[in-house]
Amino acid sequence: MSTIPINSSSRLETPKGLRLYIGLFGRRNAGKSSLVNALTGQQISIVSDVAGTTTDPVEKAYELAGVGPIVFIDTAGVDDVGDLGKLRTARSYSVLAWMDLALIVCDAAGLTNCERSLIARAAQDKIPAIIVLNKTDCYANECLTATRTEAAASGFPVIEVSALSCEGIDSLRGAIKQVLADKTQPDRPLLGDLVKPGDTIVLVTPIDTGAPKGRLILPQVQAIREILDADARCLVVRENRVAEAIANERTTPAFVVTDSQVVRSVIEQTPASIPVTTFSIQMAYSKSDLTEMARGAAMLDFLKPGDKVMICETCSHHPQPDDIGRKKLPRWLEKKIGGPLDIDVVVGKDFPSDLTPYKLILQCGGCVVTRRHMLSRLQAASAQGVPMTNYGVAISHLQGVLARALELHPQAKQAFDQAHAELQKRFGSY
Ligand code: SF4
Repeated sequence: MSTIPINSSSRLETPKGLRLYIGLFGRRNAGKSSLVNALTGQQISIVSDVAGTTTDPVEKAYELAGVGPIVFIDTAGVDDVGDLGKLRTARSYSVLAWMDLALIVCDAAGLTNCERSLIARAAQDKIPAIIVLNKTDCYANECLTATRTEAAASGFPVIEVSALSCEGIDSLRGAIKQVLADKTQPDRPLLGDLVKPGDTIVLVTPIDTGAPKGRLILPQVQAIREILDADARCLVVRENRVAEAIANERTTPAFVVTDSQVVRSVIEQTPASIPVTTFSIQMAYSKSDLTEMARGAAMLDFLKPGDKVMICETCSHHPQPDDIGRKKLPRWLEKKIGGPLDIDVVVGKDFPSDLTPYKLILQCGGCVVTRRHMLSRLQAASAQGVPMTNYGVAISHLQGVLARALELHPQAKQAFDQAHAELQKRFGSY
């Protein structure tokens, strides 16, 4: 896991990975940017009569009354033209895939194939959506009947607004609140549900060149908070103090959580009766589907030199000299298979639509994105038959300690064993 610090300016803010994401989608000039501005009461997006003013998704973190911390994403029009326009449209659809709520913004005069296609995609991918009929101030009421009827037939809630005069904006806020309350699955805790009151949990946090100066990284802070919330105790140590810390404890720790990069050494220092997991494995547990990620890791034993592998880092952090995703993982992978791989490193929130060239996808913990975002990646990979695993699971396997690192998650271990047996039948011994 790379290091995103909790810095002083963000201490009082909810990290973006723990917010709900509301995206605005529609044609150019449907009024998406005006609508973000009307909903927030701020000039966040540039509004103009020139079609296609918003070319890249614009994000704004916001506290929506009655809902809590959210991020609005204003996207480029899905009717954009030319080669660049097609890329922008594809990007808007790729953002749609991981939204907690999509506002499909239409000109109230009528739906076109652009809105129909957005509505169909939201329905197909089970993305909660609201159809917003905008610019109602521009048309006589009786002219809107056909639009209302067609929009309502989609089964999604339909709200009429004028982003210009702000009429209907309160109703839209109410609908957003309602849909998010009905449809959103809360993130799973990182580890809080594995902790009982009075437990002692050992957290191992190396202070190396990758550690941010004077701070801990987000998953470590989250773990400490969840342990305190569970009325348990936590003992935070560096990797050279694990055996000593456990030996000095009068009560046996319930489990140990370590940074993946030192998992082997930590396991060697921990008595066999105490389970060990990693922050990154717990990120997969919290943010995506650990069982599926463990299933995907079985492919690590069947890679051959020259195979194409994708490594995904969801944030664009400044790479460290011995960066985990760009240096260490490739090195450990190539050492294991005995030759070079064809590795693509994909950074940020975009995810390629064609995954079929890849034999395996390795995904970071995704601490800066939502569970829905991570699940949408897993879903895309599974639909194209490409195994996906997570850094923590992969590193534990490459270090030869996966069975031990999954002791808290027997279902995930079982999924790995089952997938491994199936691949062995398909590819023979490795
Ligand atoms: S998003 Fe991924 S690469 Fe970035 S800090 Fe979190 S786990 Fe590391």
